[in-house]
Amino acid sequence: MGASLTRRPRIRSRERLSRYSSIRIGGPISSVVCVSSAEEMEEVFDLKSRNKLPGPLVFSGRGSNILFPDQGIEGTLVRFEPGDWASACRWTEEGEVYAEAGYPLPALAREAARRGVGGFEFLSGIPGTVGGAAVMNAGAGGREWSDLCKSVTVMTPSGTVETISAERLGYGYRTSCFSGRQDQSMAASAQESLPRGSVLLGALLSGPCTAPEVCLALLTRHLDYRKRTQPLEEPSLGSVFRNPGDGPEGYTAGRLIEEAGLKGERRGGIMVSLRHANFFVNTGGGSEREFRDLLEYVAQRVREHWGVVLEPEVRMWNA
Ligand SMILES: Cc1cc2nc3c(=O)[nH]c(=O)nc-3n(C[C@H](O)[C@H](O)[C@H](O)COP(=O)(O)OP(=O)(O)OC[C@H]3O[C@@H](n4cnc5c(N)ncnc54)[C@H](O)[C@@H]3O)c2cc1C
Repeated sequence: MGASLTRRPRIRSRERLSRYSSIRIGGPISSVVCVSSAEEMEEVFDLKSRNKLPGPLVFSGRGSNILFPDQGIEGTLVRFEPGDWASACRWTEEGEVYAEAGYPLPALAREAARRGVGGFEFLSGIPGTVGGAAVMNAGAGGREWSDLCKSVTVMTPSGTVETISAERLGYGYRTSCFSGRQDQSMAASAQESLPRGSVLLGALLSGPCTAPEVCLALLTRHLDYRKRTQPLEEPSLGSVFRNPGDGPEGYTAGRLIEEAGLKGERRGGIMVSLRHANFFVNTGGGSEREFRDLLEYVAQRVREHWGVVLEPEVRMWNA
């Protein structure tokens, strides 16, 4: 991560998790620490080992895929931020880049396109960070993080830094060994050797040399498609459910929900988006309870209507 040996992690007490969530949901949290370098992360682990930080450490990037609890968390949210932009993303002549965990995906996609490094365009509309994408194997339009990722750098709770090749990360559809789910066919995954509570510091990525105009045109197409089809101006967590493997041919989770007549269905402040049925939006004052109630109701209606079991894609605290 960036050279910031003198920088100390900034710790804030008694914050609300909703401030750190793209859907603006979540009660109080004991502490929030913003981290943008390996040294700061090492210090966080050190403080934790000396009981100077409360509760469990909860790692997050932009909080664009986590549903935080209404009752809050007695713990410490460790939020990865980009820090020094110039050093948080380092390119080589060969089209490789090392990007730190807190680096935003849209900025990474734009920079890759500008440099004529292909394959990053799909990241332009995903409002998360490198760390979140590496955990979730973020994807769109038939492309996913694992197509780009060569390795990740992690820090264990004892402060040891390791580089792990992408083959050992158990990447599958929106899964990795860090997400709790992983591709079961991966025999020797990193999860088996990494201590619990290890954190992602950054990732090494690469893409083919491509004309910048081609990359920029594709990037613009991705963004235009999103603007047309997704409720980007309303707070959400992106896709609520994973696309099912056993639905009718060509049916996404969104199409199954829409054709079950569930667009506009709501529980309190949370509503199935009228623009995209696999997005739940917070129309104002929505809660975790309402999100979960709506999620259960939609899954049940889809099961009754289509005989298909939908599984959540969003991460739910304690779920
Ligand atoms: C409008 C909208 C559109 C979206 N579109 C897409 C899409 O097209 N494709 C897609 O895949 N997703 C999409 N998402 C979901 C989300 O943006 C992605 O999953 C993204 O990769 C999450 O990044 P984040 O930084 O917000 O992660 P967070 O939500 O903060 O965290 C996600 C998970 O990663 C863990 N984590 C985060 N950083 C670290 C770290 N440094 N070390 C260890 N663990 C970490 C967290 O604990 C959590 O389990 C969308 C979301 C929204 C709101």
